[in-house]
Amino acid sequence: MEKDIVIIGGGPGGYVAAIRGAQLGGKVTLIEENALGGTCLNVGCIPTKALCKNAEVISTLKNIEEFGIKGIENYSIDVEKIQERKQNVIDQLVGGIHTVLSAYGVEILRGRGTILNKNLVKATLVTGEEREIPAKNIIIATGAKPTLPPIPGIHLNGVMTSNELLSFKEIPKRLAIIGGGVIGIEFAGIFNALGSEVTVFEFAPSILIKLDKDISKRLTTSLKKDGIKINTSTGVEEIKESNGSLVIVAKDKKGSIEVEVDQVLVSVGRTPVIEGLNLEGIGIELDRKRIQVNDRFETNVKGVYAIGDVNGGMMLAHEASHEGKSVAEIIMDAPVSEDRGVVPSCIFISPEISTVGITEEEAKEQGIDYKTSKFMFGANGKALSMGEPQGFVKVISTGENNRIIGVHIMGPHAADLIHEGALAIRNQLTADDIASTIHAHPTLGEAFVEAVMGLTNEAIHMV
Ligand code: FAD
Repeated sequence: MEKDIVIIGGGPGGYVAAIRGAQLGGKVTLIEENALGGTCLNVGCIPTKALCKNAEVISTLKNIEEFGIKGIENYSIDVEKIQERKQNVIDQLVGGIHTVLSAYGVEILRGRGTILNKNLVKATLVTGEEREIPAKNIIIATGAKPTLPPIPGIHLNGVMTSNELLSFKEIPKRLAIIGGGVIGIEFAGIFNALGSEVTVFEFAPSILIKLDKDISKRLTTSLKKDGIKINTSTGVEEIKESNGSLVIVAKDKKGSIEVEVDQVLVSVGRTPVIEGLNLEGIGIELDRKRIQVNDRFETNVKGVYAIGDVNGGMMLAHEASHEGKSVAEIIMDAPVSEDRGVVPSCIFISPEISTVGITEEEAKEQGIDYKTSKFMFGANGKALSMGEPQGFVKVISTGENNRIIGVHIMGPHAADLIHEGALAIRNQLTADDIASTIHAHPTLGEAFVEAVMGLTNEAIHMV
């Protein structure tokens, strides 16, 4: 039977497209070769966040005397239990997705999808059986995989990507991380808390180069204070083996350096997964492995769409899901609730970081007449009560009418706080719109409203 939509890849892009397509009355088949939930649920967002919680608990334990609790300083770490907890979280979420997809009548096929032509997909099932599924529309949602740079020694034992490191059985005594982007820095925080000696190597002059400079500078200071070694403007040239250890050979501005470690995480970016899809066969245009799409997520082949990491967009789970929802609405001819301009992003490190809209550097580059205001969590009652007064909320508005155009947060629950900023930017709210909305006390949200009020010099707890 011909399907309205056949989706290849069951990550946050693909499974959301499947559910939305079925909600709108479509007959949908979803082909997934590994596990539902894709990278995000199985080897990405969720397992890392489960481990971030371990890091947070350890950090609370280290400062436990501040809360007047004594006698539990000699804790030890049970890696098997950490892995079991992480897997339980994953299993619960993957099971939930299976239930929802089934409830909406989505046909789920476990196997590998290949596009035979623009109206026919072949699924090679894990059982070995092959099936051909006629399709009115095809969505490619095959995600991305870790990029392996051509560094000599990259395939040595002990050199791994986030996929493998997530299943650690022992905590490495010394861990090198090649790449100071979001994934590298989250792993640095996790393994530093677990007790590894962590050294980060970053080619760019700063870690997390796209962040507002106020945040990246403070974060670098805070990570160094926690004992993480950060080498910026440093290119790794080789990984060698020596006396049972791995040696990172790198070059910084002053010359060559060598650092001995036990394991190496390679986190220099992610490459779209396009192998085996037969994209050349059906003539789909690529740009450096990224599937090219128009603003309807349609490729140059009519009726074939590509969403999520595979089209090389923002490579975030919520962006993939948003694209999945939008593309299902486009295909099913339903109103599209789409707005690609305002996408928050978060870094789950201590202190947590989140950002939406433009940075101060971008405002300068674009010649925008802008204002900034900052409110420190150290003056916020809730943050102080929680024992987490580090960090701040920084807002950027247009100079003339105080319309919010950027929000950058470093501090407790920054990832949960960013959405008020996203809502403000998307709806073109001004400082007055936010300041006239009563915020509950004592909450972390008060730090946002105070930062906003600072734009018009009306903040109450700031001079
Ligand atoms: P994926 O989630 O990669 O799913 C693609 C699926 O397609 C996979 O399940 C794969 O098995 C399947 N597939 C591939 N080829 C075929 C084929 N031929 N046939 C059948 N199936 C196929 N993003 C966030 O927003 N927040 C975070 O905190 C976050 N943390 C991350 C941490 C790590 C360590 C990593 C690696 C990523 C993280 N990300 C995070 C990014 C996020 O995981 C991705 O942006 C998101 O998963 C992309 O979704 P997707 O649906 O495009 O692809």
